[in-house]
Amino acid sequence: MYGADRYEQSLLSEKGYNIMVHGRDYQPNHPTEQFDTIISIYLFNWLNNIEQNNVLLSVSRLLKHGGRAYFAVKHHFGFKNICLNEQHQIEQTISNVTLPFAKAFNSYIFDIYEFQHFNIANRHRSQCPYCSPQQQVILENEYSYAILSNSPISKGHGLVIPKRHVASYFDLTVDEQIACQLTLNRLKKIIDEEYAPEGYSVNINMNALAVLRVDHVGIELVARYKADVR
Ligand SMILES: [Zn+2]
Repeated sequence: MYGADRYEQSLLSEKGYNIMVHGRDYQPNHPTEQFDTIISIYLFNWLNNIEQNNVLLSVSRLLKHGGRAYFAVKHHFGFKNICLNEQHQIEQTISNVTLPFAKAFNSYIFDIYEFQHFNIANRHRSQCPYCSPQQQVILENEYSYAILSNSPISKGHGLVIPKRHVASYFDLTVDEQIACQLTLNRLKKIIDEEYAPEGYSVNINMNALAVLRVDHVGIELVARYKADVR
C-alpha cells in the first residue's frame, strides 16, 4: 500500500488481509516482492507528472501478473493549490489528477482508478501486436510500457513501446516521449541488476522499415558484452 498510514494498515489487518505498507517515513525500504493488490491513497495529488510516471513504473513492476492496483486521487482542488504538509512543516503543491485507467469508483471528492497491466487490459483490442501485446508487460506508465523480446539477441533485450499506435517516434507528443524515456531508464536498471552488461545499444524502430516490421514505433534496448564485439 503506497501513501497509506498505520490507520489503514490496522483497519485492513483487522479484516484479515495480509498487508504491507510502504511509506517514505515509516517504511522507507522499497519492497522487492510482488503483490496481488496494490493500493495508493492520494499519493498522486502530491507528485508532479514525472514523479507520477515513476510511481506507475514501480507499481507495474511490483504487481503480480493478473493483479490489480487501485489509485485513489482527489479532484476537487482548484488548478494549483499550495498546502502545508503538517508532518514535515513544508509547503507542497497539490493538484488534481486524471489517470488513463478505468474508474472503479467516483464521487464528488475523489476517484478510484483500477489498473491492470496493459497486455491484460487491452487483450484482443487490436490486431497490432503492440496495441494488444501477447507478452507479459513488465513495466508501464501513463503512455508507455516495456516487454522483454521474444527473440533476444543478447542476455537483456527489451522493448519500450508507446501505448498509442504511431508509426514514427517523431509523431509522439513530448509527454509520450518523456514517458518512453522514463520506462527506458527503468528497464535499463532491471537489465543491469539481472545481467550487469558492459554496454547497451538503443534502436528506435519506426515506419515499418526497421527490423521489427510493425507499423508501431518501438524502442529496443539491447545489452552488450565485450565478447559480442568482433
Ligand atoms: Zn499499434
